[in-house]
Amino acid sequence: MKQILTAKAGDVLIGGGNPIVVQTMCNTHTSDVEATVAQCVRLHDLGAQMIRITVPGQSDVEHIRKIKDSLLALGVTTPIVADIHFSSQTAISVAPYVEKVRINPGNFHKDHEEAKKQFARLIQICKENGTAIRVGINHGSLGDYITNLYGNTPEAMAKAAMEWLGMCIKEDFLNVVVSLKSSNTVVMVEAYRRLARAMEEEGHIFPLHVGVTEAGNGDSGRMKSCVGISTLLSEGIGDTVRVSLTEDPADELPAAKYLSMRYGRKIVSSLTSLTINGRKAVASYDSPSWETLLFDVSCDFGKRLLDRDLDELELTGQYVDDSGKKVRIKESGAGTYLVDELMQATRRKFYRTEYIACPGCGRTMYDLQKALEEVKSKTSHLKDTVIAVMGCIVNGPGEMADADWGYVGEGNNKVSIYKGKIPLLRHVPQEEAVDRLLELIEKGSVS
Ligand code: SF4
Repeated sequence: MKQILTAKAGDVLIGGGNPIVVQTMCNTHTSDVEATVAQCVRLHDLGAQMIRITVPGQSDVEHIRKIKDSLLALGVTTPIVADIHFSSQTAISVAPYVEKVRINPGNFHKDHEEAKKQFARLIQICKENGTAIRVGINHGSLGDYITNLYGNTPEAMAKAAMEWLGMCIKEDFLNVVVSLKSSNTVVMVEAYRRLARAMEEEGHIFPLHVGVTEAGNGDSGRMKSCVGISTLLSEGIGDTVRVSLTEDPADELPAAKYLSMRYGRKIVSSLTSLTINGRKAVASYDSPSWETLLFDVSCDFGKRLLDRDLDELELTGQYVDDSGKKVRIKESGAGTYLVDELMQATRRKFYRTEYIACPGCGRTMYDLQKALEEVKSKTSHLKDTVIAVMGCIVNGPGEMADADWGYVGEGNNKVSIYKGKIPLLRHVPQEEAVDRLLELIEKGSVS
């Protein structure tokens, strides 16, 4: 018999028909307890219903404990999710102090059987402490065991998730959420759809955390996130969302709240008319702001373009700009710009360089937001090139997935430059790094 499961992180219920939960992640250093507490309070006040904090190492477990205690003393009961990479021991140590841990069990150990043993130990601790687990499998960080069998594909992501979920079922531990993120909206949507079908067939429907990882910043980061997340939510796939942006974490919340409300049927699109002629749509909007227009267009047409139900789109109507002035969408050029961005977000047409950039977290050792802007300003002419800008050397290279080039922060104001997965230059001072990257791209060589 089919079982629709609900996960519980503190007082927050995820899945099982509960409202879509909005979450974000701190980008402060976890060891800076005061700054992390202050950021959590700010994010809570702005509507974050769950907050993730990275736990880079064993010594940070104590920092998490202090952060949690301080938040409770301030009356902030927002569930805290500990973000763990690689170390099952850190996950086990921190589990008693948080409401949820996010791990990729496939990365616990190179030996798959050992990784399974370590995951079983974590499950036991989470069971004893009432801590939920998110099995978070990213496109760029699949274990060797699974890529050897299925390649680096959406199928591999879904198969990996099903194996770890199977272990949870066997251990009778069902307080679990799953995510299968990618910076590529096509890969991400296919992976979640496959997983949703596999869970239906198996019979245990675990709640899903949906998001487009390393979406970057600005309009394009928001549009990629809205395209991927809205496509899934419109199909009933997804129970909690994170819009991941290389910006202040507070900036993620408006888009996440919009998605949660729209697919919780609390708001409707500002679309006023729609004509579809063959494979072309003409849509008219009357939007109260640029942001609303951008979210509405992404959600109204992302899925249709992604699924190739449409090939062309024309936007008309108006929106209200920041000064309160009404702007004609077509005549101002906004329509062409939004359609170009939407085509790029759905991977139908690349009209400029494609950027993937992690949001940054407590592991980030340099000014990531500034680095992304610098890289963008000097490389935006490179059509058909994918450049990744990543915050740390520990996870950055693994998470870059299908980027052609990588610009990865090492710490101490130094950067590594990658071509695909191959590091070409290490320890480049940040002031020179964008120029060195550009030289290498223009040379196109691995020498
Ligand atoms: S790649 Fe970015 S988001 Fe991921 S752990 Fe490193 S700094 Fe944090």
